[in-house]
Amino acid sequence: MSQAQVEVSEVHWLMDMFQTVDVGLVVLNCDYRIQVWNGFMENHSGLTPRQVRDRYLFDLFSEIDEDWLRRKCDPVILLKNRAFTIWEQRPYIFKFRNYRPITGSAEYMYQNSTIFPLTDARGQVTHLCFIIYDVTDVAVSRIELESMNGRLKQLTKTDFLTQLFNRGHWEENLIQEFKRLQRYQHKSTLLMCDIDHFKRINDTFGHAAGDVVIQAIADAVRNNLRATDIAGRYGGEEYAVLLVDTPLAQAAVLAERLRKSVEAMSIAYNGQQLKVTLSLGLAEYHSGMTEHRQWIEAADKGLYQSKANGRNQLTCYSADSPLL
Ligand code: GH3
Ligand code: MG
Ligand code: MG
Repeated sequence: MSQAQVEVSEVHWLMDMFQTVDVGLVVLNCDYRIQVWNGFMENHSGLTPRQVRDRYLFDLFSEIDEDWLRRKCDPVILLKNRAFTIWEQRPYIFKFRNYRPITGSAEYMYQNSTIFPLTDARGQVTHLCFIIYDVTDVAVSRIELESMNGRLKQLTKTDFLTQLFNRGHWEENLIQEFKRLQRYQHKSTLLMCDIDHFKRINDTFGHAAGDVVIQAIADAVRNNLRATDIAGRYGGEEYAVLLVDTPLAQAAVLAERLRKSVEAMSIAYNGQQLKVTLSLGLAEYHSGMTEHRQWIEAADKGLYQSKANGRNQLTCYSADSPLL
């Protein structure tokens, strides 16, 4: 083979590789008109090199944000820098449908890209070359993992039966609020409540009926409180609510409203109407408390007193006059 023949066959291989490589290769001139378009781009866009030749990129692909891409390309042309785009920033440059069976949940191909300058013999940038990588597999697994982590996080915070915060997460919130109150002069109040004679519900109607009652009272707690209040299931049929930025007197109004609404409720179960009442205890934070457990104990003392006094009532515990 002559030297010329060798060179021709090398160019031929290069063209073959260029056509079959599994990344997109696009060359634009500095006016953003398409000059080169490889097999990957043809397969995914359905447009042949002949159809795109000399077409203005932003006319042909209206989904590309022109200002954004020009901002990326300016330094490539002016400073001969490389530029990169990543799917976390923008999912794709070219909106191609995703046909991969394994990552079928993604509607479009996620893409990363590299953009680099092509220069002439004098070193002047005359063209831009884009390499487009299909990163759908990576993106889909990352997105799924993140949403799974989000769901898991939610599960570890929430009580399954009532969808209120579970005790651990609720107590974490209480500790945060306790620390805030130690620094700033705010007034917050803690409410503890417990369903009266709940064992009777379980014993008479069964455990499943008991569960329905626990859920119904959780709904009542949710419906009677404000968005800023932090409610948790503290134990079996015990609920704890942090009434943020709420002094005792105002908290007593809220707690009494909750008590009355539970008293008035009829809970439907298997064609029967179940009725329960709540005993409640309230305690406002005061600066003499050195740790959050003392705050819980104070509200619990109020609750205990409500039970001792005959149930279905509210008792406010105060450090100055222990039981009002
Ligand atoms: P009191 O008025 O003094 O509170 O009387 P009580 O019967 O409510 O007494 P206590 O608070 O000791 O009873 C709680 C009962 O709640 C005991 C337990 O079997 C039941 N329990 C705890 N968790 C659950 C649950 O998730 N579902 C059901 N159905 N019952 C539960
Ligand atoms: Mg009880
Ligand atoms: Mg109890």
